[in-house]
Amino acid sequence: MPSDNSIPSSPRYRYAIEEADKLLFEFDIDQFPIDPISIIKQLKNCYIFSWQKLKKNTGIDDPLNLRKNKLEGRCVRFHEENNDYYLIVYDKNVSNPNRIRWTIAHELGHIILGHLAYDELLNNDGSFNENKYAVLEREAHQFAAELLSPAWVIEEFKEGNEQIELVETICQITHIAAEKRINSIMDYSTRNDYMFPVLRNFFHVLEEHSFIKTNYSNISINDIVIDSKFDDYVEYPFWHYLLWFLEESDDTDEIIKALYGSVALYDDNSMVIYVKDMNAKLVVDNELELICSVLKDYAWTKIDIINVITIKKKHGKK
Ligand SMILES: [Zn+2]
Repeated sequence: MPSDNSIPSSPRYRYAIEEADKLLFEFDIDQFPIDPISIIKQLKNCYIFSWQKLKKNTGIDDPLNLRKNKLEGRCVRFHEENNDYYLIVYDKNVSNPNRIRWTIAHELGHIILGHLAYDELLNNDGSFNENKYAVLEREAHQFAAELLSPAWVIEEFKEGNEQIELVETICQITHIAAEKRINSIMDYSTRNDYMFPVLRNFFHVLEEHSFIKTNYSNISINDIVIDSKFDDYVEYPFWHYLLWFLEESDDTDEIIKALYGSVALYDDNSMVIYVKDMNAKLVVDNELELICSVLKDYAWTKIDIINVITIKKKHGKK
C-alpha cells in the first residue's frame, strides 16, 4: 500500500491491473465467474456483510448510510488493537447479481489499492474534492474489471460483438460493463508478471470454449505404461498452456512437432515427458533448457530435472 497520504493526480491503471492479477494468482483462481465474496472471506482483516444483514444484526437503521447516500456498496476502515480492519457493505437487493458482484469487486479494489489509507477527500476549505474522488473511482473500477474479466484471458475470446456477449455470459458481468471492458481493454492492458500465471490458470476455460484450439494430444496417461519410479508423479495440469506458449514463440516448429502427442507428469521439481517416438525424444532431449525456462518464466513452475521417455501403450490400447 502507498505510504504517503496524498491521492495520485491521475489513475494508476497499471498498478490496479497488477494488484487484481496478483490476487487472482495468489488465490489460485481458475474458474468463471469470479466470486469476490469468497476472496474477501479469505483475506485477513477484511469482512463483508450485506446491508440487510448488518441492519438486522446491529439494529442500526441505515448501516454506513448506504440508503442515505444512495449507494449500492461501500467500504470503511477501522482501527482496533493496533490493527486495521476493513468492512464492505453491499446492497443485496439490487436485482442484477452481476452488478452486485461488480460493486463488491470495486469496493475490494478501494481496500487493496490502499485508498482507505488516504486522508479525507476534502479541500483545505472543507469542500469535497471531486477530482481526487474520480481518480480513486477509476482505479477501483479498473481493478474490478481486471479481477472479474482478466485482460489476457478475455483477449482470447472471439472478436467483435460476439466477444462482448461472451465476456458478459462467461465472466458474468453486466452487458454495459462487458462492452466498456472490450472497448477499453487495449488502452490499459499493460503487461505485468502475474498475467502469465493467470492466463495459465484459465487456459482450460479457453480450450473448453474452443477459443484456443489445441490438438496436442489424444492420449491419456491412463493409456500408457508409467514406469514405477514415477508412481508419485501426477499429470502436469498446464502442459497444453506450455505447448501453446511454445507454439506462439519463434523458431519452435521442430520442438512443437516433437511434443505433439506428448504427456507430462511431475512431482515437485522433476518432470517426465512421454513422447511419441525415438525421433521426438532426440529433439526434446536437446531442448530441455528451453522447456525448463518456459516452465519457470511463463508457467511459474520450477523444474530442474526432466526425463524424456518414449510412450509405451498399455496392452490392448490402440
Ligand atoms: Zn468507489
